[in-house]
Amino acid sequence: MTNCLDFRREKLADPRHLSPGALAHMSDCAACRGFSAEINENEAQLAAALDVPVPEGLAERIVLRRRAGARNVAKASPRLWAMAATVVLTFAFGFQQWKDFSSQDYARLAIEHVMHEPESFTSTRLADPQLFRSVMHNFGGEMQASLGKVRFMKLCPVPDGTGWHIVFETEQGELATLILIPAKRMQSQREQATVGGWTALARPGGQGYYAVITQSPETLGKVDELVRQRVRWRG
Ligand SMILES: [Zn+2]
Ligand SMILES: [Zn+2]
Repeated sequence: MTNCLDFRREKLADPRHLSPGALAHMSDCAACRGFSAEINENEAQLAAALDVPVPEGLAERIVLRRRAGARNVAKASPRLWAMAATVVLTFAFGFQQWKDFSSQDYARLAIEHVMHEPESFTSTRLADPQLFRSVMHNFGGEMQASLGKVRFMKLCPVPDGTGWHIVFETEQGELATLILIPAKRMQSQREQATVGGWTALARPGGQGYYAVITQSPETLGKVDELVRQRVRWRG
């Protein structure tokens, strides 16, 4: 029997090919039907976000990595696989994590998100500058200059949908996380939080808001300045 969490994980991993168990769950569970509709709606937006030439070899690598559990590999387009690959696997955290929060909690939630995904600092994923630029563009940010070297990009569950989780290395060699959250408006112009040695700053921008997360307040100040100088937000 598929539970809500399993259902959502499966839906995110391969939105168009649900197992019989997942389909049965969906017919019984209004919340998961709603979730499913939301993901289907987001799919078009996600496809647009990935409307860039897929880096050479990327689709093959994704398909190979996923072959063990994948269905219908042959039928899926490379773009669909690229999309599926960006979807978070640690959905368990995101699902609970963003559920109850007030508008004052944006920076703190961004830190908790990062703390639950330590692999984002040790793995390389979709480290493609062109894809990063395109994701930023679709979110409403025009990059005037590079922020540094992109190391990791992933779509993660965030309030009301999915957001981009990006890790990059500044020209000074400092690691910084940037999280793009669509559809949520901030009341204030900036919000800062410090939790467990991490520090974060959230600001309105693009389709919602973005948060910068670093390990030291000094780095945070520098990276915040860098993002403000090098990204021009529309809207
Ligand atoms: Zn459910
Ligand atoms: Zn994430």
